[in-house]
Amino acid sequence: MVYLEELKRYPIAHGVSDRRTKLEDFLKTLGAAEPRLAKLEQVHKGKVANVTAKTDLSSKIAGCDGAITNAKGVALMVMTADCLPIFLYDPEKHAIGIAHAGWRGTAEGIAKNVVNAMKAEFGSEPAKILIGFGPAIRQCCYEVSREFLVHFPGSVVKMAHKYYFDLAGENAEQLLSLGVNTKNMFDCGICTSCRSDEFYCYRKEADKTARMASVIMLK
Ligand SMILES: [Zn+2]
Repeated sequence: MVYLEELKRYPIAHGVSDRRTKLEDFLKTLGAAEPRLAKLEQVHKGKVANVTAKTDLSSKIAGCDGAITNAKGVALMVMTADCLPIFLYDPEKHAIGIAHAGWRGTAEGIAKNVVNAMKAEFGSEPAKILIGFGPAIRQCCYEVSREFLVHFPGSVVKMAHKYYFDLAGENAEQLLSLGVNTKNMFDCGICTSCRSDEFYCYRKEADKTARMASVIMLK
C-alpha cells in the first residue's frame, strides 16, 4: 500500500493498492463498515461526477474520469497502471476529489476540472486544496514519439534523441495555473515502470497487467 504521509493527519482515508494488496482488504482499512464505493468508467476524458448520498453506485459512473463528494463514507476510486491517480482534499470545506490522469485526460484538463468542480459545488479555494499524486509512469520511463510534442510542448524533454513525457509534472503545472499552492502538493514519486515488481505497469506488461486501486474517503 502507498499512502501520502502528509494526508494521514486529516480525517480522510486514502491509499493506493500494490500487487500484494487485495481491494477487499484495502477497503476494510478505510474505517467504514460498508463504504459506498464510487467506481468510474474511465474513458480518458475530462468529465467529473459530483457523487452525493443519493447517487446510484451499483455500476460505474458513465463517462467520468474524475469525481468529487462531500458525503462521509463515500469512497471515490480510480483504477490505474501507469496513469496518474490524483487525490484532492479541501480541509476547510471538508470535501474530496479524485482523478484518473492518463495523457488524454490530462490533455482535457481532468485535474483542473476536478478542482473547478470542487470550487463550483463546495466553494473550495484552489489555494487551500491539498493534492496528492500516487504511483504512475514517470519521465524516466515514459518515452513518447516526437509527434507527441504537440500535445504538451512544455512537459516533454529530449534526451539522447529520445523524447520523454513528464505526466506528473504536466498535471502539477495545470493545477498551479489554477492557484493551487506548491506547498500543498505531495507526490509519492513512485515510477510504476521502475518498480514494476511492486506495481502494475501497463507499458511493460500490456494486456497481461492488472490495475492498482486508488481510493479516498471522508471519515
Ligand atoms: Zn521509471
